[in-house]
Amino acid sequence: MSSTTSGKTAATLSPLLLRKGIKGIAGDVKSVKPLGSGDLLIEVFRKQQAINLLGTTSFGGISVIVKAHPSLNSSKGVIRCPALRNDADAAILEYFQEEEIPVSEVRRILSKKNNKLVPTDTFVLTFATPSLPSAVVIGYQRCSVSVYIPNPLRCRNCQKYGHHEKRYRRKTVCQYCGREGHEDQSDCDIANLRCVNCEGKHAASSRDCPAWNREREILRVKFTRNVSFPEARRIVESTDQPKTANSQKQHHHQKQHLHQNLHHNQNQHHNQNQHHHQKHLPPQEKTLQRYAHLGHMCVRSDLAHSHLFLDPN
Ligand SMILES: [Zn+2]
Ligand SMILES: [Zn+2]
Ligand SMILES: [Zn+2]
Repeated sequence: MSSTTSGKTAATLSPLLLRKGIKGIAGDVKSVKPLGSGDLLIEVFRKQQAINLLGTTSFGGISVIVKAHPSLNSSKGVIRCPALRNDADAAILEYFQEEEIPVSEVRRILSKKNNKLVPTDTFVLTFATPSLPSAVVIGYQRCSVSVYIPNPLRCRNCQKYGHHEKRYRRKTVCQYCGREGHEDQSDCDIANLRCVNCEGKHAASSRDCPAWNREREILRVKFTRNVSFPEARRIVESTDQPKTANSQKQHHHQKQHLHQNLHHNQNQHHNQNQHHHQKHLPPQEKTLQRYAHLGHMCVRSDLAHSHLFLDPN
């Protein structure tokens, strides 16, 4: 819900007024959250409640527009289906529409091999429902659906995360040496790698970058818990940046605990030796490892492949 009355936002309405107003229109709703933009995010239990709210034009003395949230009402999943090797995305989408399976988009993932884009047998499906089904049946084949977690978006211009190079015009920063002002690689001090996002000794595009892993963790939280991007960031930051030395200790302990659980589940990826080594690393490396674990944690084995694919968007 967003206000169209100038100088007033829906988020600043009295909570008493809000509760009364929303109750009058839609009954008891699941949650109401103010957004950073001043809009209100209202989550409902039933379709009819959404219909009632969508028809609202004035609320608590201000004019409002109520719209369906652009991303929280749909969900993206990944299926792997080698049998669809030769079928076009459009033909698969047509099948879903004929069968009334609520899929609005089918996109085959392309992987980069020797600088060429090669089609894979993995597909990203957009469902017109807030949560994903556990599986879809295609023809006579059942494919299990996993949560799609896109790779973090890094600006190719300033190397920062979260926006596309077309959207902001900051100074060009080199992805190798982290300096501004040269576009030609021959001017680059490439031997002295410096990442502009974490100051580490790697290119800004490196997958070893703790900033990259952190962004990916935010995306994992966003898509697995189906929350907004700022909320996912807040969740990750609240578990990631302890304020006192004491809580840091505790925090580290928790992480180790988490990590040990991981050993339990995914011992094909980790071993106790690695864990032991971690203790002897310099502090910065330790952080890096910790992030790496966090990053790792989010990779479900069935999704591991999709992370490696080049997402053309
Ligand atoms: Zn940028
Ligand atoms: Zn450079
Ligand atoms: Zn970095």
